[in-house]
Amino acid sequence: MYPPSVQKLIGLFLRFPGIGPRQAARFAFYLLGEERKTAQALAEILKTLHDQVGFCGKCYVSAERGSDANALVCRNCRDKARNDAHIMVVEKEADFINIEKTKRFSGVYHILNGTIDPLDSAAPARLHVPQLFQRVESLKKEGQEVEIILATNATTDGDATARYLPDEPKMNNRRQNRRLFIS
Ligand SMILES: [Zn+2]
Repeated sequence: MYPPSVQKLIGLFLRFPGIGPRQAARFAFYLLGEERKTAQALAEILKTLHDQVGFCGKCYVSAERGSDANALVCRNCRDKARNDAHIMVVEKEADFINIEKTKRFSGVYHILNGTIDPLDSAAPARLHVPQLFQRVESLKKEGQEVEIILATNATTDGDATARYLPDEPKMNNRRQNRRLFIS
């Protein structure tokens, strides 16, 4: 058995997505084997992480908090040159980063934070799906022509998500959407 403090650290690493007991122990012993300042630097960042960074209230991209932490809006959503009625729906932030790198999209994004498992009826509420419907609805109320680009991954769940969203009455109908495959 490891010392209690190490065991506790392993327990925390185990909660990370995709990390098993062996990897968790490797991380813990890496920190223990490194100089003290490595663990201290990590602790310092973690201590203020939530104070420094939040998620954009519109698209859910992570963003550095400014002086007004309550009204967090990311750079893209503030950018007047971007078309805010063209919404690219992606599963996670890494997909948004990859698409942004291509510099070929001048609309805005919506990070779902996962995919919709068709057998799990509670899945949409766990993701940023209701917020997407709200966004679409309020743009339509403003009289804007909304275009949704469903850019979920080319996986079974990604496809299920892209099929589910247009069936919702609060969304655009199928003809108004485009599907973009991310692999
Ligand atoms: Zn945003």
